[in-house]
Amino acid sequence: MSRASKLPPFDPGDPLGIDDLLDAEDLAVRDTVRSWAADRVLPHIADWYERGELPGIRELARELGSIGALGMSLDGYGCAGATAVQYGLACLELEAADSGIRSLVSVQGSLAMYAIHRYGSEEQKQRWLPGMAAGEIIGCFGLTEPDHGSDPAAMRTHAKRDGGDWVLTGRKMWITNGSVAGVAVVWAQTDDGIRGFVVPTDTPGFSAPEIKHKWSLRASVTSELVMDEVRLPGDAVLPEVTGLRGPLSCLSHARYGIVWGSMGAARSSFEAAVSYARTREQFGRPIGGFQLTQAKLADMALELHKGILLAHHLGMRMDAGKLRPEQVSFGKLNNVREAIEICRTSRTILGANGISLEYPVMRHATNLESVLTYEGTVEMHQLVLGKALTGLDAFR
Ligand SMILES: Cc1cc2nc3c(=O)[nH]c(=O)nc-3n(C[C@H](O)[C@H](O)[C@H](O)COP(=O)(O)OP(=O)(O)OC[C@H]3O[C@@H](n4cnc5c(N)ncnc54)[C@H](O)[C@@H]3O)c2cc1C
Repeated sequence: MSRASKLPPFDPGDPLGIDDLLDAEDLAVRDTVRSWAADRVLPHIADWYERGELPGIRELARELGSIGALGMSLDGYGCAGATAVQYGLACLELEAADSGIRSLVSVQGSLAMYAIHRYGSEEQKQRWLPGMAAGEIIGCFGLTEPDHGSDPAAMRTHAKRDGGDWVLTGRKMWITNGSVAGVAVVWAQTDDGIRGFVVPTDTPGFSAPEIKHKWSLRASVTSELVMDEVRLPGDAVLPEVTGLRGPLSCLSHARYGIVWGSMGAARSSFEAAVSYARTREQFGRPIGGFQLTQAKLADMALELHKGILLAHHLGMRMDAGKLRPEQVSFGKLNNVREAIEICRTSRTILGANGISLEYPVMRHATNLESVLTYEGTVEMHQLVLGKALTGLDAFR
């Protein structure tokens, strides 16, 4: 028998054989999340997107909790204790449905829950994490302000001591899940530096008006947080961290999910382009038979599967406790940029149909405009890597 005949067949859905790197549990997690998204998101997402709403978000959150997707890679307190690779696979499948759904999960698990899990007191963990893992309580994470985005160290929101209490005042902007959250992790200046506060959103003085008129992440709740002398007990502060490393470490965890998630949006767009190219006929034959179309498909497949390999590599490093923030920047910068390119190229293959909500491509492309900006813009990650490569800080 020739050596070639023993080779496994070429799989267009997995041309590099990346699935061989996954174990049975990884595949089970992926299948569970994929089938949940196929059942609960895909039939409705175009409608939600057009309406600019995420109706039934509380029910969706509970369902995501029931499949273990909230705070998935955290241990204890009702969390699934999954590996980083499994969490990444879940992000990919969720974002293949829509970046808004993945954002809901990332903010809940990697930002709000992660902050409490890593830096909270035992009482804070007991009080909030089980309900958040079950999706009964939605969380948000307030770092960005109207005048301070890429440079959060300059934030103006502040918390002052008043007897045993804290009094929190300021505004946060572009906060995912804000208006539906039961708890907000809010970062503020204090006399000791930047601290995180766990704020029940029914505290007097706290409000979260929703931001409308977005042309991206339309099936996602985005809000302002307004804090007008919000009085909190002394134990509302996250005790285990002071300074910007608190929020930055949470962001690093969430960005890791984006490295995978962005490849989900890319995969969905690519699959739409392949399927369209095989059936759409012009000049008497399928457009997928033209060399120029095949060049686009081949180039997209390279970047898609290189991106998934990169995500898997970073996941293995995270599971081994060796993932550096610069490596997360590497992954986020590369994969989101390549994902948006894949969506744009897929859009060209679909021609005019590419701009229709009947296909997922334009929705993913416009979503990725937000993903390109949040959790550190392209430029911020270039500066992180530039500094790591040269030893020279070019941020200011
Ligand atoms: C849909 C959506 C959801 C979001 N969810 C959240 C959330 O849940 N919680 C939260 O805290 N935030 C959230 N954000 C905010 C997001 O993190 C910020 O938008 C992001 O950090 C960028 O800040 P900015 O928009 O103020 O842009 P700016 O910081 O004003 O940047 C504008 C431009 O200037 C560039 N720039 C800035 N400084 C430099 C420099 N030194 N050198 C070169 N270029 C520079 C930037 O790269 C960018 O291109 C969300 C944003 C969106 C769009």
